[in-house]
Amino acid sequence: MADGLENSLTHQEEALLEPFVTSLDSPIFGLRNLPEVVKGALFSRYSRSDKDLRRILLDEFIKAPEADFSRIVGGSTQDGEQIVAIQQAEAFYDRVLVGYGDDSVAELGGAHLACEGISNIAAKALEDSRLGISPLEKSTRYVPFNRKVNGRYRYHREASIMASSHASLYEATLDHLFETYTTLVEPLLAWVQSCTPKDANTSDRAYYNATRAKALDLLRGLLPMATLTNVGLFGNGRAFEYLLVKLAASPHAEVHALGASMQEALDQMIPSFVKRSKSERGLQYARYLSTNRDRTQHLTQKRLATSALPPPSHVQLVEYDPDAEAKVIAAILYPHSDLAFEQLLIEATELSVAEREEIIQTYVGDRASRFHRPGRAFEETYYTFDVLADLGAYRDLHRHRVLTQERQRYTVRHGHMIPPELEEAGLAEPYRNALEKAAETTEWIAQDLPIASQYVVPFAYRVRWRMKLNLREVYHFVELRSARQGHPTYRAIAQEMYRLIQHVHPTLVASMHFVDMESYALERLAAEQKIDLKLEQRQG
Ligand SMILES: Cc1cc2nc3c(=O)[nH]c(=O)nc-3n(C[C@H](O)[C@H](O)[C@H](O)COP(=O)(O)OP(=O)(O)OC[C@H]3O[C@@H](n4cnc5c(N)ncnc54)[C@H](O)[C@@H]3O)c2cc1C
Repeated sequence: MADGLENSLTHQEEALLEPFVTSLDSPIFGLRNLPEVVKGALFSRYSRSDKDLRRILLDEFIKAPEADFSRIVGGSTQDGEQIVAIQQAEAFYDRVLVGYGDDSVAELGGAHLACEGISNIAAKALEDSRLGISPLEKSTRYVPFNRKVNGRYRYHREASIMASSHASLYEATLDHLFETYTTLVEPLLAWVQSCTPKDANTSDRAYYNATRAKALDLLRGLLPMATLTNVGLFGNGRAFEYLLVKLAASPHAEVHALGASMQEALDQMIPSFVKRSKSERGLQYARYLSTNRDRTQHLTQKRLATSALPPPSHVQLVEYDPDAEAKVIAAILYPHSDLAFEQLLIEATELSVAEREEIIQTYVGDRASRFHRPGRAFEETYYTFDVLADLGAYRDLHRHRVLTQERQRYTVRHGHMIPPELEEAGLAEPYRNALEKAAETTEWIAQDLPIASQYVVPFAYRVRWRMKLNLREVYHFVELRSARQGHPTYRAIAQEMYRLIQHVHPTLVASMHFVDMESYALERLAAEQKIDLKLEQRQG
């Protein structure tokens, strides 16, 4: 038993506790076999109790008659009883938490949720979450999107469009996109393989996977935003509650329905944590968000109606701090000094170039890999980028959370990008035709149903979005997203961001050693070869 900890457990109490804790006497232990709400309630008691957690579990849950603990964790295999048990836990949780109404308590329990057969519009709405939600989505690189179910391609048939006179045009256009994708997979794979023949050091498995990933990467531009996908989420209760409110505020009917289904599923797992999203308070919050968005949109359109589009620019560094170096240096010195930040800023501005470089280099040290990220002093300065790139690249980069990202609507207004490889393979014409037909349909439907028309927009069309990120996230983002195995379009964005920052702040990015500025014919090959090595080692 560690110093300062009591061990007053009887043998009988130890037997009662044993199934629910990973250790009966270590000060560091885990909770197991307990519903999320009970774990949350237990931890929430830390702030209002002098007892240790095992004692709270015993006194206030296991032995408290009103908790009916055996029903909560009775291990029943009957579905009905399980639900009753969760409800029981919820009621108990509510009693325990009377007077502890801190929102952060809802971060103490979480849930895994599968969202299947949702459109990319809905998937992006889910993945827009940052704090507290970890998503994973079916990949357009590893999974071909050409399978039909009951003779139909898998895309969302948007309710307002299907109820309108545009229904058959919508289906014909999206079928054509999927048909083109399906027809091009094999010839494109053959072309990729003919351009990059397998060498003796590469296994059939690695070669097939790398070439197929390349072909699917090249074709993903044909997939419309209506394409159905699967997203798995792990999140804490508080994050889910906020996400449900945001989904309720969405302008898309599909996203509303998704939010309602998620609420139903979460009500069966972590009901106490997500009940406010469906309460009057949650509904009022959703109305607040949607009303403000609609009014701001109206005002923007009124003010900017006559402004023309600027010439397209791929990646623009819109704003950076000319005093960034001094600020970062002051932040580097700060934890090692007793001076005020303001004094350190003055000191930093008076340093010579060589002195500044020495401090920055010492702080970053020898980075052996991209995982050796500089510390929080690099969060002292920010960069704002405006990016205009294909939706495929946006979908990938949107997944980063430690920054501010906001996009404009999905549109065909900024034109599309056709990968040069399709031209080289002589397969660009059907690709282009399908895209252009989709653009006409989008514009046509947009006249009546502007919000729903976004479902037609294929991933090859450009979207504009802004990213504001600090230097520390720049290191992570640029090094990860320029890595060889990445998709060429987002690699190009990461590489351009690096060039632009290097131009204005060379000293601050001098330690960014793991930016890959090369181009590759088969991005996935090296990663697949590494997998081969691991497989061999495992077999060995
Ligand atoms: C080659 C490649 C293939 C990919 N394939 C897929 C795919 O098939 N499907 C798919 O869904 N996604 C895929 N992704 C996206 C990937 O899963 C990440 O969501 C995305 O790259 C964001 O990365 P991040 O979490 O490292 O970065 P950021 O969100 O920018 O976060 C920066 C860092 O902060 C920390 N951090 C951020 N959030 C958390 C958190 N919640 N918990 C703990 N630490 C956190 C981590 O250290 C993280 O590296 C792929 C990414 C790459 C580069």
